Amino acid sequence: MIVSSRTEEQNKGAAEQGRGAGAPLRAAHAPASDAPAVRPPRQPRRLGRLGAAALRTAGNAIALLSNRRSLAVVNYHRVLAQPDPLLESEPDLVAFRWQMALLAECFNVMPLHDALRALDAGKLPPRTVCITFDDGYRSVHDLALPILREFKLPATVFVTSGYVGADAGNMWNDRIIHVVQSLPAPVLDLSDLGLGSYSLASIEARRLSAARLTEAGKYMPPAAREALVQRLEQMGGLKDDALMLTPAMLVTLDSNNIEIGAHTVSHPILTSLDDESARFEITAGKTQLEHLIGKPVRLFAYPNGKVGKDFDARHVEMVRQAGFTAAFTTAVGAITGDQDRFQLPRSRPWDRIPFHFGLRLLSWMALSNRQPR
Ligand SMILES: [Zn+2]
Repeated sequence: MIVSSRTEEQNKGAAEQGRGAGAPLRAAHAPASDAPAVRPPRQPRRLGRLGAAALRTAGNAIALLSNRRSLAVVNYHRVLAQPDPLLESEPDLVAFRWQMALLAECFNVMPLHDALRALDAGKLPPRTVCITFDDGYRSVHDLALPILREFKLPATVFVTSGYVGADAGNMWNDRIIHVVQSLPAPVLDLSDLGLGSYSLASIEARRLSAARLTEAGKYMPPAAREALVQRLEQMGGLKDDALMLTPAMLVTLDSNNIEIGAHTVSHPILTSLDDESARFEITAGKTQLEHLIGKPVRLFAYPNGKVGKDFDARHVEMVRQAGFTAAFTTAVGAITGDQDRFQLPRSRPWDRIPFHFGLRLLSWMALSNRQPR
């Protein structure tokens, strides 16, 4: 799920990386699947040999001059077949491809579990980065995996276990976005639900309306939120595609150097639950995935991930007790060996220019090294 933390808001720029300044947005009422790709051809963004060498040299210098190694973990959700104005924080294939090319060329990309062990042992190579995906979107299998394989990059996907399977449906936020995207009406009137009205008059208005509705739904009780989503879906719109991974896709990812991590059963805001429900979400999310892939699930990512708001010390302890080896937030920055292993930062550079994207990763590594502990 797309979250509203500082990281994610900053990430909004990242999704635009692949959309050239002059590229027209597709019609807002057309769903992603049938939209004709009418836009001028775009050149993939390139870093250049000098830029790559500069990033590698700077990364080596940071490692040499600092007294502790740091690890940057980048987080994605979906990869889009083409840019979508209502999903600005998600990279399209062009953006995702240059970002993976840059990581492969300038950084040491390691499996997340191995990188944490190397950090513990004081043997983390300079410029180490790990790649993660949250929620368990099908596009990780369909679109990201071929690119990861092309560049021989490992990754981790944190899967919301309750959405795995053909009949599990899409996550509520994606259902809202789909309705806002596909309704032909110029205004969405939800005043009888006490939620006001939302303009659908332009692509920008739809983007804002989708963001406002998603933000409103995030902290609603699940029953009220489901009522809202069902009400929206009754208003019409086109049938949405299945967006989440199937059990067979999980197994394929697992056998292709993509570790499966846990992300709860239903993606709740943990602080909105009583302790018993929160513990169930954390432990059952783990065991359900272990049943599907037949091996231990070692890593966890907090839904929404905002430290102190979306989870607190109780949940950190529950994750520890559930048998995970590490857990991840959506705080900006890099990981050092002396941080709480169950509240590790994770974010993604939002820059549209490859060199800046690489520099921002390096800046996180450098700044985390200077932070007093
Ligand atoms: Zn999530």
